[in-house]
This record gives sequence, structure tokens and C-alpha cells, in this order.
Amino acid sequence: MERLVVGAKRLGFDLSPGQLESFQVYYEELVQWNKRVNLTAITDYERVQTSHFLDSLTVALFLDDLPTPVLDVGTGAGFPGIPAKILLPRIRLSLVEATAKKAAFLNHLVDRLGLEGVEVVTARAEELAHDARYRETFDVVLSRGVARLDTLAELALPFCMCGGAFVAQKKGKVDAEVDAASAVIGILGGRLREVRRIAVEELDEERALVVIDKCTGTPQAYPRRAGIPQKRPIRARR
Ligand code: SAH
Repeated sequence: MERLVVGAKRLGFDLSPGQLESFQVYYEELVQWNKRVNLTAITDYERVQTSHFLDSLTVALFLDDLPTPVLDVGTGAGFPGIPAKILLPRIRLSLVEATAKKAAFLNHLVDRLGLEGVEVVTARAEELAHDARYRETFDVVLSRGVARLDTLAELALPFCMCGGAFVAQKKGKVDAEVDAASAVIGILGGRLREVRRIAVEELDEERALVVIDKCTGTPQAYPRRAGIPQKRPIRARR
């Protein structure tokens, strides 16, 4: 886990031997399950350390090790939620994933790593966000690699409580995407706080964290029904 150790240091995180052991087990389970369930195209030992684990840890720049409710939308094989949980064991993490087979992997992994305070929810964000137990109840919502920011804002912001924040992980150039989403973010009750660029040598491409504050309640009409946020992103007058 040498690449991860070095990269994490650059972000300001010192990983304990116990945490490194967890990442090692995570790697082994990921590669093992990937033979049966399509979890990731990246299985190389070095690349998993950087493109999955280290990349996921960048969200911890916006988290504290406190028992606050955190949700990861479209978590897939657990990114960025699980690495964040390994680093910050006190967070209360909910993982939302639409594909049952991926959710089965997540349940297995949580058990295998002995993580406490992690809930795996097999659901579509469009439906779960209308469930009162989930709507506007999270301090921080995370997401990586799920959709373009205008679509993603509709899937994620309804989960954020007012005063909370949505942290979207993006690769490469983000300015145009952020610009295109800005009016939509407002409609959903959010306000752009910052675009934090992450330049870590171990990561191939430039990364950015788009941080959106939740300022007012999301109108009940959102998110629209499953598939619509992707198919027809909200069109806003600007
Ligand atoms: N966040 C992970 C996975 C990205 S792939 C990573 O960065 O590696 C996108 C994942 O989001 C897939 O596993 C897909 O099943 C899930 N997903 C896509 N749309 C979703 C939705 N509307 N609700 C819940 N999960 C969704």
C-alpha cells in the first residue's frame, strides 16, 4: 500500500497500520468479487491504490471524524464512501447503490472489514430521496462518477439537510460543467461554495471537488422519477 501511503501523506493524512490492513483486505475482496460481479475496470494493485483509494480519500478534506450522517450516492464498489469511512471511523455512512449485486458486495465488505455505522441501501436515488427517513437528513452527501453535475445535483441535493453540503468528485476540466449546472443548483436549494482543485502527483488527471452548500429546502417535485434526471436534466432560465 506504498502508493496510497505516500499519496495520503500529501493530502495530510497519516494512515495507521490497521487502516492499511483494511485497504489491503478491501483490495483483495474487490479483485476477488470482480470475477463474478462487474465492479471495476481497474484491478492493478498500484492503480487501485491511487485511482480508487487515494482518489476517494480526497473527500475527507471536507469531512471531520465525527458521528455525522454522510451519504454516498451511486457508490458502486464503495467509492468514495468506504475509503472515507476507513480514514474517519466515526462518520455514520449510508451507501446508496441501485444494482443489487454491487450492494451484496458492499454488505460483504462492511462485514469483512468490521465497519460499524455503515448502512447499505439498495435503491435508486430518485425514489429514496422521497422517503422521509432519507430526505434532507444528511450533513454531507458525496458522489463520484455517477452523472453530469446538473443531473447529479437533482439526485444528491434532496438528501442534504439545510446547512449541509454536497461534495461532487470530478475529473479533468469542470468549469463548463459547473457553469451549466449553476442555475439548476439554485432551483434545488443549493449554492456553489467552491471548486477545490486537487493536484496530487499519484493521481493521473487533475481532480476537483465541487462543493455545494444546501441553503433552502428542495422543492417536492425533485428528484423526478427514475431515469428522468439523466434523460432530461432540469432546464433553467439563466
Ligand atoms: N461511485 C463509484 C461508482 C461509479 S459508477 C465510483 O466512483 O467508482 C455509477 C454507479 O452509480 C453504478 O454502480 C450505478 O449502479 C449507480 N447509480 C447510477 N444511477 C443511480 C441512481 N439513480 N441511484 C442509485 N445508484 C445509481
